[in-house]
Amino acid sequence: MLPCPLVQGVADHAAITRAAAVIRAGGTVAVPTETVYGLAARADSDQAVAAIYRAKGRPDFNPLIVHVGDLAQAETLARFDHAARALATAFWPGPLTLVLPRHDAAGLSAAVSAGLPTLALRVPAHPVIRALIAEARLPLAAPSANRSGSVSPTSAAHVAASLGDRVDLILDGGDCKRGIESTIVAIRPGGGWSVLRPGPIAPADIAALLGPAQASLAGGVIEAPGQLASHYAPGKPVRLNAATHSHDEFMIGFGPVAGAITLSAAGDCAEAAARLYACLHTAAAAPLPRIAIAPVPDHGIGEAINDRLRRAAA
Ligand code: AMP
Ligand code: MG
Repeated sequence: MLPCPLVQGVADHAAITRAAAVIRAGGTVAVPTETVYGLAARADSDQAVAAIYRAKGRPDFNPLIVHVGDLAQAETLARFDHAARALATAFWPGPLTLVLPRHDAAGLSAAVSAGLPTLALRVPAHPVIRALIAEARLPLAAPSANRSGSVSPTSAAHVAASLGDRVDLILDGGDCKRGIESTIVAIRPGGGWSVLRPGPIAPADIAALLGPAQASLAGGVIEAPGQLASHYAPGKPVRLNAATHSHDEFMIGFGPVAGAITLSAAGDCAEAAARLYACLHTAAAAPLPRIAIAPVPDHGIGEAINDRLRRAAA
């Protein structure tokens, strides 16, 4: 930790200048993105990357996503083939992470990829993280800004509650619009691809550009090591696909299934994604000992919502 008091204020120009100085000095900054809040540090420093793992209590086999300003900067860090370039052109800036062969001379800390020969890269769309990358003039490693395994943060208040004094500075950019982590796509030698983590960009959107996905090549190896069965855990039992709830369950509704709160009364999956983690945080803080959640349709971004819900319930 740097001897720098926590700032939780609007991410104006002065706050971003200060945050960039913290980053350049090797510190950690919680920063809004369009998906969830990230815990950012300079990706070229072993010490700075170690500070992320320490603050989150994250297992060191779980690699981080590196955030850059544009495709040109990304191409200095990893090898882009035709398929990777097509996806980057179509979806960046935006909620898509590409896993690509890492350049040996990229100058990044080995810890960002947890020893893997590949690198996970994203160009985010949110103006605050974009300004921070530009001002720091560095690639930023940034996993979600929460204690490892717990519910992801979609507001500065969530970050403060989870990491509080474990982060040097929090930039407040309001609530995250997408609310669910980026889609992660691995590009294979020869142009095959597969989704390692579902997210806001649907597989059909990728298939429209690259053709059908390849079957996973993992063969038992954990390919996206962060995809552990239990994750996003609210700290109490979660029951999925609930049409009704019992007296000791805090009910999260969706569409026609009402609850104490709802993911989306209108049954809108994009709204449900944006509200998902805030609802889980509310349910976690409620006095009732259990959580029940209404069914969410399993198509489009609903697939990503159900992926997160299964892990929250595991
Ligand atoms: P988070 O930073 O919390 O959004 O999690 C990052 C996700 O990216 C985790 O699921 C990691 O396993 C995944 N990831 C990061 N780097 C790689 C990589 N080189 N290969 C596969 N998955 C990766
Ligand atoms: Mg995370």
